[in-house]
Amino acid sequence: MKTNWAGNITFSAAQAVTPTTADDLRAILRGSSAVHVVGSGHSFSPIADTTGTLLSLAAMPAVFEVSGRTVRVNAGATLAELAPQLDDAGLALHTLPSLPHITIAGAVATATHGSGARSLAGAVRSVEVMRADGSVVELTSAGAVVSMGGLGVVTAVTLDVVPSFQVAQTVYEDVAWTTLLSQLDQIFDGAYSVSAFIDWQGGATLWVKHRVGDEPFRFPGHPADGPRHPVVGQPPIHCTEQGGVPGPWHARLPHFKAEFTPSVGQELQTEYFVPRTRAVTALRALAEMSTVISPLVQACEIRTISAEPQWLSPAADRDSLAIHFTWVPNTPAVLALLPRLEEAIAPRPHWGKLFTVPPTLLAARYPQWDAFKALLNEHDPKGVFRNDFLTRYFGSAASS
Ligand SMILES: Cc1cc2nc3c(=O)[nH]c(=O)nc-3n(C[C@H](O)[C@H](O)[C@H](O)COP(=O)(O)OP(=O)(O)OC[C@H]3O[C@@H](n4cnc5c(N)ncnc54)[C@H](O)[C@@H]3O)c2cc1C
Repeated sequence: MKTNWAGNITFSAAQAVTPTTADDLRAILRGSSAVHVVGSGHSFSPIADTTGTLLSLAAMPAVFEVSGRTVRVNAGATLAELAPQLDDAGLALHTLPSLPHITIAGAVATATHGSGARSLAGAVRSVEVMRADGSVVELTSAGAVVSMGGLGVVTAVTLDVVPSFQVAQTVYEDVAWTTLLSQLDQIFDGAYSVSAFIDWQGGATLWVKHRVGDEPFRFPGHPADGPRHPVVGQPPIHCTEQGGVPGPWHARLPHFKAEFTPSVGQELQTEYFVPRTRAVTALRALAEMSTVISPLVQACEIRTISAEPQWLSPAADRDSLAIHFTWVPNTPAVLALLPRLEEAIAPRPHWGKLFTVPPTLLAARYPQWDAFKALLNEHDPKGVFRNDFLTRYFGSAASS
C-alpha cells in the first residue's frame, strides 16, 4: 500500500510486509527498529504511517471463535468479512460505521463509530498484542483499545456481541435546521441509529435506522420518494437499502454497501466530538461560519455516540455529538479552515480524520492522557511503534 485510501497521505515506509503467520510476524518485529501496522488505510490522518516497516495483517490466518456473547477474531479481518459470519451464528455487532470496508483493529484503534450507541471500541473485551520483542499479551485495560498502533501489533480482538436483529432504514427529507436544533434529543433518541445530514442552508435530511419491533417516533420532514446518497448528486446504488425495507443489521447500519466505493472517493474528512450538553451551542457556532464552510464541504453528518470508558475514545466518559465533514480534496484550504472551527467548539477530534488541535490543548481534554503515555512506555519502551503522529501527541519513547 503506497498511499491511504483517499490518496492524501503517501506512506513514507522503507518497506511494506505482509506476514502470513505469527512466527513470520515475530521475526519481522525482532528485526525492526520502527514498525507500524496499517489496516485498510482508510484514515485521513498520518496515524498509520512509519518511516520503517509498514505491516499489513491482511494475509494472517482467519480466526472466528464464538463463546457465549463474545467473539474472538483476527484483527486484520474487515467488518464486511466479520458481519455475515456473525449473522449466520445468530449474532450481531451493536453498531457499525458508515462503511464496512475497514479492518476490526483499525476501527477500534481510532474509536470508529456509527450513531446512537457506543463506538466499536466500546464493544472490545480484550486485545491480543504482539510487542516489539515478539512477546504476546492479552490486554483488557480501557487504555489499550484506542491505541493507534502504539502498543504493538494487535493480532486478535475479542468483542462483545448481541443477538442478531433486523433494521429498516428510512430517509426523511426537508427537515428545517431550526426543527433539528429544537428537537435534537428527541430526533437522535427516536430510533436505534439516527444521522442528520445538514446542508448549511437551513435544511437537513435524517437517515433513520429503526430496529424492527421498536416503537416508531414521528420524525419531522417526509420520507424520500426513492433511494438517496448522503452526498447530493452521487449514485444511490452505492448505498444500503432504504425505503423502510427490513433487513439484517449489517445490511442497513452502514450507509454504504461493501461491494461499492464508500462515500465519494475524492475527498478529505474531519470529525469533531462535543459533549451532548454542548451540542446545540456548538452547532450554532458552526452555523455562524457556514459561509466559509460551504465552499469546501461535500457533506456534513451529525451523529451521537454514548459515553464509553476507553481512555482515548473521543466519547470517553461523556455522551457526545459528533459533527463530521466530508471536504473537497483541497488539503491546504481544509487545513487552513480547521483551526477556526476548532477554536469555536473546542472538540475532541476523530483520530483517523484531519484535525489541527495542538497537543497541549488535546491533552487537557482527556483525563487519561498521561496514563496512556505511561501505557505506551510500558509496552513499547524503545518506541518501535512510535511514529511521527504518536510522537507529536505523546512525545518520543525517551521523553514521555
Ligand atoms: C469513506 C470513509 C467513511 C468513514 N466512515 C466512518 C464512520 O462512519 N465512522 C467513523 O468513526 N470513522 C469513519 N471513517 C474513518 C475510519 O473508520 C477510520 O479511519 C478507521 O481507523 C479506518 O480503519 P482502517 O482499517 O483503514 O485503519 P487504518 O486507517 O489503516 O489505521 C488506523 C489506525 O489503526 C492502527 N491499526 C490498524 N491495524 C492495527 C493492528 N492490527 N494493530 C495495531 N494497530 C493497528 C493503525 O496503526 C492506525 O493507527 C471513514 C473513513 C472513510 C474513508
